[in-house]
Amino acid sequence: MSSSTAARPEILRGQGLPLFEAITPQAVSAHIPELIEQLNTELTTLEQKLGTALDSGVCLSWSAVMDPLQRLGERLRWSWGVVSHLNGVCNSPELREAHAAQQAAVVQFGNRAGQSQVIYQALEELQKQNEQLDSAQQRILATELRDMQLRGVGLDGSEQEAFNQASQELAELSTRFGNQVLDATNSWTLKLSQPEDVDGLPASLLDQLAQAARQAGDSDATAEAGPWLLGLDMPRYAPFLQYSRQRSLREQVYRAHVSRASGQAGHPLNNWPLIERILTLRGEQARRLGYANWAEVSLAAKMANSESAVEALLEELRAAAYPVAQQELEALASCARRRGAAEAADLKPWDVSYWAEKLRQESFELDSEALRPYFPLPQVLEGLFDLCSRLFGITIEAADGEAPVWHSDVRYFRILEGQQAPSGAGETLATFYLDPYSRPGSKRGGAWMDECLVRSRSSDGTPVLPVAYLICNQSPPVGETPSLMSFEEVETLFHEFGHGLQHMLTTVERPQAAGINGVEWDAVELPSQFMENWCYDRTTLMGMARHWQSGVSLPEDEYRKLLAARTFMGGSATLRQVHFALVDLQLHSQWHPDCGQSPEQLRRQIASTTTVLAPIDEDAFLCSFGHIFAGGYAAGYYSYKWAEVLSADAFSAFEEVGLANEEQIQDTGRRFRDTVLSLGGSLDPKQVFEAFRGRQPSSDALIRHSGLVAV
Ligand SMILES: [Zn+2]
Repeated sequence: MSSSTAARPEILRGQGLPLFEAITPQAVSAHIPELIEQLNTELTTLEQKLGTALDSGVCLSWSAVMDPLQRLGERLRWSWGVVSHLNGVCNSPELREAHAAQQAAVVQFGNRAGQSQVIYQALEELQKQNEQLDSAQQRILATELRDMQLRGVGLDGSEQEAFNQASQELAELSTRFGNQVLDATNSWTLKLSQPEDVDGLPASLLDQLAQAARQAGDSDATAEAGPWLLGLDMPRYAPFLQYSRQRSLREQVYRAHVSRASGQAGHPLNNWPLIERILTLRGEQARRLGYANWAEVSLAAKMANSESAVEALLEELRAAAYPVAQQELEALASCARRRGAAEAADLKPWDVSYWAEKLRQESFELDSEALRPYFPLPQVLEGLFDLCSRLFGITIEAADGEAPVWHSDVRYFRILEGQQAPSGAGETLATFYLDPYSRPGSKRGGAWMDECLVRSRSSDGTPVLPVAYLICNQSPPVGETPSLMSFEEVETLFHEFGHGLQHMLTTVERPQAAGINGVEWDAVELPSQFMENWCYDRTTLMGMARHWQSGVSLPEDEYRKLLAARTFMGGSATLRQVHFALVDLQLHSQWHPDCGQSPEQLRRQIASTTTVLAPIDEDAFLCSFGHIFAGGYAAGYYSYKWAEVLSADAFSAFEEVGLANEEQIQDTGRRFRDTVLSLGGSLDPKQVFEAFRGRQPSSDALIRHSGLVAV
């Protein structure tokens, strides 16, 4: 068969809804290299064309520069996006291998396009004709130029070489840092053999500890009789601290946990030298790019574009949280005193989780498992869709069977314009897949929203509607029993749906700025966290929380417990996040090799105002702070709190008009849709927020929602 008559392989289709069953590991291995080769050739051709135009001084147009670039990127995004998606939801050893084998080439193509001098110059030329561009185009261009600058495209000769070398070394150091944390975590275990060693532990934890013991060679270990193997991984460590009645064991495991990968007690794994090297290199990279420090580099691409703005916010939260955290610690001590515990007079860090759990049980026994029957998935979906209908004037209806899916559990839905649009009557705005249940072994854990198709126009002018993947990992139905969700799972679904709404209700047709594209990293959690707030709204919650068999509403008492649980130990939790955020920021702005202080000394200085229990001597938290040394959060950890301020403040606009005031709630909801959900990355997030709220964000609502206001 000649190639001209051969059907184009599905994996290279580049548009429309994917036919998932045709995206096989064989197709990945056979056609992704072909795609990368084509894209490289076309990029070269584009570079030549632009180079010639630049040399001869021909005026460049958007359609000559940005459109072809976007089309190249979209072909890769479509094909590689489906592969990555399936790798997450239908994993198999074959697919994982095929994915891993192509990843380097995909990254390399992205690097090549992102560091292309000719393209950079062409974008600069285009920017000179700003008056012919609309505001979205101007922002797309500015964002693209900034990202290329931060990749070092503007550096020449030896400077760029040094920059690339340092980037390479930083990538390796990050990987090593993460691996050492993992190895240090896994290298510590403690075998418990006496029944009193596991005093107070819940059955689920005993199960886990016995299973760990069996895996380590104690083939007869049982949850009831032991032995039990304790470790430093979160699923074992966190509940042990929470429930163990053996204070000395809590202390032992706590000390081991906070000193991981710090080279203490003759342990070979030591992340201290890596930390200093990483911070030093980042400082040098920043100066090469023309910034004073790495914090400036990070903030150049964020909504909070100055260190002082971030520090001001963190100080507001710190000042509100500190006295509350002190009271919370005092409340734990009182609880311990009431129960005659000797440590009441001198609580240590390894006592906090334990007494917090006791106090929580004393104040409000919230059995989260017992709430599940009130949250069957179909009912929760109905509640979520009704809420979206009220707030945003849309209708969401099932469209199962209208699109190919990757698993029989996957559902397909359509979003129509208009509140309660009769079936088939409203204009279709978007569609989405929902893959709700966990499938251990073939589906990645956690929950996420991903783009299947991005809103745009195809080359012939027909609109391309956005399509989202919404992925959760909740318990599957069993027999006749539907999937019964924990309250946390309900919050997670609302959260991801918030991301989905921003992706799907966008009105921007330039894909580089449609939906979540081009939205600053510290603003992107605004719609998702905003949606979580509605889980605590009486109308929304009581509207969907009914026992799946009896139809009885969630008891009022349980609702009050949910509200109380939301702010329990809220001061301590906020203070902890402020501590991490401030340490991260100042390490990347103030620390340098000759500053006369070690990173740890700087951290302890910050701890004096951001902790109510000072870190113990061997506390080397920095040595396991993977977010900033092994992940992408360097000088960006504050983003968690920044986005929470935005989402809480956005929700407070609804509280201000009164959550029972239906007309005003709907007006405010439409305004949220027309600003935050519509404008995507086409406008500065500060302007988007102001367009919704009528003013700049304030931390008041978050401080109130976190229970940090003195009553
Ligand atoms: Zn999120």
